[in-house]
Amino acid sequence: MKLTSKYEMIQHILTELKQPAYRFEQIAEAIFKQRIGEYDRMTILPKGLRNELIMRLGEHVLNLTPVIQKTSRQVNKVLFAIEGGEHVEAVQLSYERGWKSYCISSQCGCGYGCSFCATGTIGLKRNLTADEITDQLLYFHLNGDALDSVSFMGMGEALANPNIFDTLKILTDSRTFGLGHRRITVSTIGILPNIDRLTKEFPQVNLTFSLHSPFDEQRSELMPINNRFPLHDVLNRLDQHIHDAGRKVYIAYILLRGKNDSNEHAEAIAALLKDRGPWEHLYHVNLIPYNSTDVTPESFHQSDNDRVQRFVSILKSKGIKVTVRTQFGTDINAACGQLYGHNK
Ligand code: SF4
Repeated sequence: MKLTSKYEMIQHILTELKQPAYRFEQIAEAIFKQRIGEYDRMTILPKGLRNELIMRLGEHVLNLTPVIQKTSRQVNKVLFAIEGGEHVEAVQLSYERGWKSYCISSQCGCGYGCSFCATGTIGLKRNLTADEITDQLLYFHLNGDALDSVSFMGMGEALANPNIFDTLKILTDSRTFGLGHRRITVSTIGILPNIDRLTKEFPQVNLTFSLHSPFDEQRSELMPINNRFPLHDVLNRLDQHIHDAGRKVYIAYILLRGKNDSNEHAEAIAALLKDRGPWEHLYHVNLIPYNSTDVTPESFHQSDNDRVQRFVSILKSKGIKVTVRTQFGTDINAACGQLYGHNK
């Protein structure tokens, strides 16, 4: 039997030791309600069981090691060491009203090579396990932070990692993280087979599609995945997702000065999202200011404010719902497309 996470492993150990069924609830409560991070401190458990858990799983519930933490006003970025000497990053965003949102990594590096993205420059090292993904959140939880919403917009393409589905199961399990499906956002460049799987297994989880150009040829240049899963095929599948799930789909669009921020681009996006069917009002465009890093090409720059406003007004005039995403974290390279596991 393949055990996909430490939570399954704990259940397996309990069964092997013929422990009563309530033991798992006791352990889950210790971790998720009392925020106890060491098995030995779970004094509600018999000493022998605690020792067995320590022997099989180690002393600490958390298996990631935080290496560096960088904080700016509303952003807290943590670099974690993972097995194999690699690193991944997670970002905590604190909103004014006390809401805490997290941007976590699903892969170490990424193999898709989008030309504007820092993570893409390091290639794919490996998929993260469900434990390595959920531990990024467990770290903050054990530190006493609330987990209000989570997006898979850190390093990697979430839907390219099959472990994402076990991850979603753990995050939404009421005995463990207990996150509402609607508080989770999966972002994808358009990995078709796993969009289908997400629609079937987690229809209520928010889905964001990274478009970045409405023109096939340009999108293929910016995002080579477009050759394999062309944007028109992805949009047809997203129609199906909206139809089946009855949920909004977000279209993420990074504005790159002089590259994809022209009036023609705005008009073409509107044309793509209109006349799709009675569900078309459930598409929502999120415009994202571009963030440069030391490793992304110098030819990419952030669009001027006037251009952004013009882009917004064209989309709005065509009846497209649009928001410009607030930017924070750029000073510590914690914004979108800036995570690449370096101590920068
Ligand atoms: S934008 Fe996403 S899919 Fe593209 S290279 Fe970066 S991390 Fe990978």
